[in-house]
Amino acid sequence: MRIVVKIGTSTLTHPSGHLHIRRVETLCKIMSDIKNAGHEVILVSSGAIGMGVGKLGMRQKPADIPSKQAAAAVGQCELMYTYDKLFGEYHHTVAQLLITKDDTVNEKRRGNFINTLNRLLELGTLPIINENDTIATDEIVIGDNDTLGAIVAQSVRADLLILLSDIDGLYTADPHKDANAVLLQQVDKIDESILSLAGVSSTTLGTGGMVTKLHAAEICLDCGCEMVIANGNRPENLYDILDGKAVGTRFGRKTV
Ligand code: GLU
Repeated sequence: MRIVVKIGTSTLTHPSGHLHIRRVETLCKIMSDIKNAGHEVILVSSGAIGMGVGKLGMRQKPADIPSKQAAAAVGQCELMYTYDKLFGEYHHTVAQLLITKDDTVNEKRRGNFINTLNRLLELGTLPIINENDTIATDEIVIGDNDTLGAIVAQSVRADLLILLSDIDGLYTADPHKDANAVLLQQVDKIDESILSLAGVSSTTLGTGGMVTKLHAAEICLDCGCEMVIANGNRPENLYDILDGKAVGTRFGRKTV
């Protein structure tokens, strides 16, 4: 299987913006194992701004664009250093691809991106993709890595996109506020009733929330790629998803 895994900032870092070492180590170990089992794995990783905030000792995510971009420039290095080191322990070679919206809509650049990505997979590497936050401003930004993950999955005809977040999946109500909220295990169509379940994002360092995840699901359902939203706090969820177990919310093909 060709699998795209998207990891959100809230999974990668503590609220301080410093690396969540135990979780990230386990995630890299499990993704290495999944690759060893014969699957192709592409990682879409957030966390550049969040980790930059931590490393620069900023007290919170800055609001102005130059500071955000400066934080991303610092954090992206830290992110790739960490992935290179952890995947390297399991003898996997990582590759960094930073793209903007232009690269996904301009036919020539999109073609180059897809060719490079396919070649990197042929070479057995583990491509790691993020938006090029240091140059992407409002007009040209994709804006969130859920959508980026879906665009990547669509571009390389992936079989499965897994969005790892700090929530178990899509609920019928906000589980932080409503004790009767029920996790939806399977969604086959994104209609008004499903869209109405997406609340407002509560994350402090990342972007996104349920709205962008449902947008990603629309892209995936459209191109026949299965998508799962699952909690990244339990990295073993990755194994369970591949085993077809009922984890998180699945969009598209039904669980076994
Ligand atoms: N590209 C952003 C970063 O690396 C994350 C975007 C997102 O959280 O979806 O910080």
